[in-house]
Amino acid sequence: RKGTAVITGASSGLGLATAKALAETGKWHVIMGCRDFLKASRAAKAAGMDKDSYTVVHLDLASLDSVRQFVKSVRQLEMPVDVVVCNAAVYQPTAKEPSFTADGFEMSVGVNHLGHFLLARELLADLQSSDYPSKRLIIVGSITGNTNTLAGNVPPKANLGDLRGLAGGLNGVGSSVMIDGGEFDGAKAYKDSKVCNMLTMQEFHRRYHEETGVTFASLYPGCIATTGLFREHIPLFRLLFPPFQKYITKGYVSEEEAGKRLAQVVSDPSLTKSGVYWSWNKNSASFENQLSEEASDADKAKKLWEISEKLVGLA
Ligand code: NDP
Repeated sequence: RKGTAVITGASSGLGLATAKALAETGKWHVIMGCRDFLKASRAAKAAGMDKDSYTVVHLDLASLDSVRQFVKSVRQLEMPVDVVVCNAAVYQPTAKEPSFTADGFEMSVGVNHLGHFLLARELLADLQSSDYPSKRLIIVGSITGNTNTLAGNVPPKANLGDLRGLAGGLNGVGSSVMIDGGEFDGAKAYKDSKVCNMLTMQEFHRRYHEETGVTFASLYPGCIATTGLFREHIPLFRLLFPPFQKYITKGYVSEEEAGKRLAQVVSDPSLTKSGVYWSWNKNSASFENQLSEEASDADKAKKLWEISEKLVGLA
């Protein structure tokens, strides 16, 4: 039978390119979890995806109710869930003021981390009951959260501190809107959320890999400088960022190539190792990359897990 992969944020950029790459193999059906149903349907059509190769299901990660409803809707499809890819993200580098999810969390961490945390926890049961030979839960990470890299050292750097802001609810009422308790900074909030993504993947691995056999992985697909992720950046940045990445840092990767990379993490028989953060070298060969000290801190991962499950109502 075909494999079924759930991909969040598949209406553009990396998620769409991955959905297309998987659909084109003829071996995958993609459940596209998207907040804008019409945009996602149009994007899949415009990408030339066969109409039998995907199903769009509404998902707004900025609402925990919507996440729970999405899980119900996916179950009603009565398709197995063989792979889950947490890909959607918001990035608000120029925001002066924080914005908030329906549950009152600062938007970047609320969508990128907390929404996906609930989704992944809920869908783990579905992955467990699938009979697919290689079941995987993938969370898209980023180099920018990794302070052991050049890109990760561009200020403001990711830093979760002692998680006091998160523990306080990240709502700006009784607590800070930043995980470390500091002042709002949209670029930092994004980087912090990506550190959360990478820590979450490892904590899943420690807690559930042996018991479930599910492969837990994260990745940095390269700098896809052309995606909508940078839509809120200043126009000059959007103009210069792609050539800068292409010719100066040489970290640039096209959406199509990045989609192929993520599709490998979904389906390649050689990428079944769990607990790995994948990256690709100049020749587009995958390798197991090292995470920064903070992004591989097991105590922090455990603490993040415990606070997050309280915030999303699982504990
Ligand atoms: P895009 O902005 O193109 O894609 C992000 C997707 O997330 C869109 O489909 C968007 O939906 C969706 N999304 C945003 N908010 C929500 C929400 N509340 N609920 C549901 N979906 C939502 O960016 P990319 O393709 O670049 O980003 C994809 C992933 O890749 C992210 O995890 C990002 O951190 C990661 N990444 C990107 C890099 C890059 O260089 N671009 C580098 C490293 C990692 P909509 O279409 O409706 O806006």
